[in-house]
Amino acid sequence: MLKDQDRIFTNIYGMDDRSLKGAQARGHWDGTADLIGLGRDKIVEIMKASGLRGRGGAGFPTGLKWSFMPKESDGRPAYLVINADESEPGTCKDREIMRHDPHTLIEGALIASFAMGAHACYIYIRGEYIREKEALQNAIDEAYEAGLLGSDACGSGWDFDLYLHHGAGAYICGEETALIESLEGKKGMPRMKPPFPAGAGLYGCPTTVNNVESIAVVPTILRRGAEWFAGFGRPNNAGTKLFAISGHVNRPCVVEEAMSISFEELIETHCGGIRGGWDNLKAVIPGGSSVPLIPGGQMRDAIMDFDYLKEQKSGLGTAAVIVMDNSTDVIKAIWRLSAFYKHESCGQCTPCREGTGWMMRVMDRLVKGDAEVEEIDMLLDVTKQVEGHTICALGDAAAWPIQGLIRHFRDEIEDRIKHKRAGRVSAVAAE
Ligand code: SF4
Repeated sequence: MLKDQDRIFTNIYGMDDRSLKGAQARGHWDGTADLIGLGRDKIVEIMKASGLRGRGGAGFPTGLKWSFMPKESDGRPAYLVINADESEPGTCKDREIMRHDPHTLIEGALIASFAMGAHACYIYIRGEYIREKEALQNAIDEAYEAGLLGSDACGSGWDFDLYLHHGAGAYICGEETALIESLEGKKGMPRMKPPFPAGAGLYGCPTTVNNVESIAVVPTILRRGAEWFAGFGRPNNAGTKLFAISGHVNRPCVVEEAMSISFEELIETHCGGIRGGWDNLKAVIPGGSSVPLIPGGQMRDAIMDFDYLKEQKSGLGTAAVIVMDNSTDVIKAIWRLSAFYKHESCGQCTPCREGTGWMMRVMDRLVKGDAEVEEIDMLLDVTKQVEGHTICALGDAAAWPIQGLIRHFRDEIEDRIKHKRAGRVSAVAAE
């Protein structure tokens, strides 16, 4: 179990003072100007050495991403954009940072922006996060008043402005180029890549988009050193991580733990175990709604990190762990996600626009058992035609949960079809 002295987020439950005074008492904003004094190259080097991988889902190495930003300006400004559009079903970790520990993010924004030559940073927060926006804006105002932001931010010699932008509640704006479009005042539709944001992002200028947690951990990594952070987890899966565990555990929670913790330890230590015991565990979605589920029997020994879960044909994603016990209608659970992705598709590319609706309608009938057994393979085939053939990852996100369902629960789908035909069950109807 992660020791308290190794926690980056020391007020994640909001039990302590979240104001600047409280944050400073917990060690934030301590010697920030000195950290900036390390210089741009050194900061990027430390971030690379720490092994931090992006906490927004994709797991791309953060230091490497920063190094893509131009070293010399060609006259265009550079921007850091922080993705606080936390909308993936099951994911609720950045929310806790913003409402209870906002200064970790603000200090991180300053340092990360400096490391990328950006004098301005935008935080794009999801529309539904009203209280979080208020808490974060209060913290930003406090930081300006204390001279920690603005010209010569905290005496570092770096001029820096931080803006909080409130989205309108569209899931697709969590995709980095859709987020940029939305920030520019346009419809939140993903852009074709290339060009990548580091070349032409916000207003056509070099931009890096990072997740809230990725930025909020930066000051502590710099203070405590790359080796300290890299000391947690397995190689290539370094650091501490916020896990958000929901569903059929005795105590759902958000908790910071060492990466590569076993699933069993995570659940037993922090969630009071599986509801009804381990034999009652049916399936787990380990990384937010877009990753394929894993059957319960396979999960008990699972290691919660990027590489292990990828080997299981799933993923760590946002580390939003959705636990389902035997009372769950797993077909209906995945149908619900299909309905979500269908609703959130921006409609820009055909495989996603048509495919998400098509997949949802077949799922609708599978829930009721109102289909032919052959349609299961047909549905699987359609998911493969959507996967990898769209502008952004929403197409994949819609396909993967269905692939996981068919991979692991094909019997249950077939049984429902057969039973329905035999008139033996009143199959659960999709609503
Ligand atoms: Fe829009 Fe879907 Fe295409 Fe993404 S994959 S750009 S959400 S239509």
